Amino acid sequence: MRELGIVADGAVLIEEGRIAAVGTRREIERRADARRALKLDIAGRILVPGLVDSHTHLIFPVSRAAEYEQRISGATYEEIARSGGGILSTVRHLRAARAPALERAALAFLQEFAAHGTTTLEAKSGYGLDWPSERRILRLLRELGRQQPVEIVPTFLGAHVIPPEYRPHKTGAEEYIARVCKDMLPAVAREKLAQFCDVFVDRGAFTVDQARRIFAAARALGLVPRLHAEQLSHTGAARLAIEVGAASADHLEQVDTNDIRALAKSGVTCTMLPGCNFHLGLRQYAPARALINAGAIVALATDFNPGTSPTLSLPMTMALACTQMRMTPAEALTACTINAAHSLRLDARIGSIEVGKDADLAVFDLCDYREIPYYFGVNYCWMTVKRGSTVYSRQPATRADSPRPPKTRTRRAPRATEARMTEISDAGYAL
Ligand SMILES: [Zn+2]
Repeated sequence: MRELGIVADGAVLIEEGRIAAVGTRREIERRADARRALKLDIAGRILVPGLVDSHTHLIFPVSRAAEYEQRISGATYEEIARSGGGILSTVRHLRAARAPALERAALAFLQEFAAHGTTTLEAKSGYGLDWPSERRILRLLRELGRQQPVEIVPTFLGAHVIPPEYRPHKTGAEEYIARVCKDMLPAVAREKLAQFCDVFVDRGAFTVDQARRIFAAARALGLVPRLHAEQLSHTGAARLAIEVGAASADHLEQVDTNDIRALAKSGVTCTMLPGCNFHLGLRQYAPARALINAGAIVALATDFNPGTSPTLSLPMTMALACTQMRMTPAEALTACTINAAHSLRLDARIGSIEVGKDADLAVFDLCDYREIPYYFGVNYCWMTVKRGSTVYSRQPATRADSPRPPKTRTRRAPRATEARMTEISDAGYAL
């Protein structure tokens, strides 16, 4: 995780949205195909793979800022939940929300994700908790993936918590699980609405046994498990993640040394969500250092959600990982690029700057990658590129997908072309 493969004075050649060559500027400039390309100079800034956020709850109707204040005044997560706040208040609002409002909010957030260097994100349902509302979220995610450039990987989280209407009965939990397994999951698979199935395994949510049954149903339909595991209490969810071959076990604050050893031997990505601990004011963070030292695959994500982690900034998440969990800046960058991509089963296509991969890139207005977490709380993302097209730029005039200069001008008026190139290079980045 500490080997970044840094290229000083580097260049990337992009063709048809893919990376065609990577190397030093001299190497790339010597290539015949590069000589024909539009050149943009990022002038001493740093270029990293587009950031990958592998755990978000993107679609929610309103913030929970009032609850934030309540918590600061001493109320616990569970007390807030019992008083009708917490996840269930978001569920109530989401069920009542109008579709255009949900869409507008999500689009604005997606723009902010891109502005912070994120080019791909996973997004979960789970604030609907009945089929019409869950389907609405998943369909909206699909629609958003078509409308705007940030790539969205959808996850079905029908088993987030037991919905309020099932709570009064003793058998309510079992009835809801049956609904998830027999009705919702087959419908998700039929409409191809999600690739992953997540379950929140914790006290106050679902047990290991219940989750095992949900994952069996999901697996049978071709959905890959991922879990909210070992966040508030030690339940055995990390072991379950290994048992069911989950793509990722997320949170992991409560894992013990045996879990760490087992996770390190497994193929399960351990996703750290330090924004959650920070926002809740918790002192205990997940043992990222021990997991990395043991050889586990460690990823970082924002856990963007209105209750416990309302940040969409991976650079800020990296800062928290470094200062609170003692991850090195290099480990933090690996964790929210290639390792996060691995947890989404996308590492063959995104997550690193390699020939043949999608040209998903982020430019930071900094001269050292370590400054990304170092300047915490400040966004130095300068340009974001998705499949070769600029999707965010601090310079409004810059477009990496701007048309090539007309051939006649290139031949007859090289000076004019040069001037034009300089204009672009002041503003931006290379195609
Ligand atoms: Zn979450």
